[in-house]
Amino acid sequence: MIYLKTDEEIALMREANTLVGKTLGEVARWIAPGITTLRIDQIAEQFIRDNGGIPGFKGYGGFPFTLCISVNENIVHGFPSSYVLRDGDIVSVDCGAIVKGYNGDSAYTFPVGQVAPDVMALLQTTKESLYQGIEKAVAGNRIGDISNAVQTYCEARGYSVVREFIGHGIGRKLHEDPEVPNYGRRGCGPLLKKGMCIAIEPMINLGSRNVVIERDGWTARTRDRKPSAHYEHTVAITDGQAEILSSFDYIEEVLGENRI
Ligand code: MG
Ligand code: MG
Repeated sequence: MIYLKTDEEIALMREANTLVGKTLGEVARWIAPGITTLRIDQIAEQFIRDNGGIPGFKGYGGFPFTLCISVNENIVHGFPSSYVLRDGDIVSVDCGAIVKGYNGDSAYTFPVGQVAPDVMALLQTTKESLYQGIEKAVAGNRIGDISNAVQTYCEARGYSVVREFIGHGIGRKLHEDPEVPNYGRRGCGPLLKKGMCIAIEPMINLGSRNVVIERDGWTARTRDRKPSAHYEHTVAITDGQAEILSSFDYIEEVLGENRI
């Protein structure tokens, strides 16, 4: 069942997603060699609560933290921990917040210090592929048009697309219909209609697409232990171009010239 949102609901979705964007901007200030990922999680939780939101992931399906923090070969759903970030790491931070009953969801992969050029290129391509997908998120298109745009963009550049985790509808619930895979065929899948809100979130690997789940039951990593990147926006389908409800502006203001 796909819930179409009214303009009033989309305004609330924008509020929740703006808070997520600001939280990721706060996270950006702290990401540097020497900080633990658990400290980053604590900062994000405090920031969300101080600004009138509720962490959207904490307790969702039993997930114990505010952020999913996935370093290097970890793809998604990583646990914040005592791990200390080091120069050359990449760190994917996925954040959810609930404001007035509606969910925001967005993710960004940050470089820590000086990152190898081939890994920086992975980040760049993954982020670009997100916007390739968003470009196809237009009423009258189908989900497969988004999926195919992400997949072909990344595979043409030699990267692989994770299949086990995908984007999703979003609203009062964090995960609603429809599913939004990052691979698929043009012209297939559910029809996009005005009022649909979806999270588009390519997870792209430098090596092979194969995934292993760690013993914590959550953390997904690449089987070959090569790096993986993840960027996510929540968008609303409108009459024209999709409206991006989340924002990387707060992050990129902090990163300056180091933005991806
Ligand atoms: Mg997310
Ligand atoms: Mg999501």
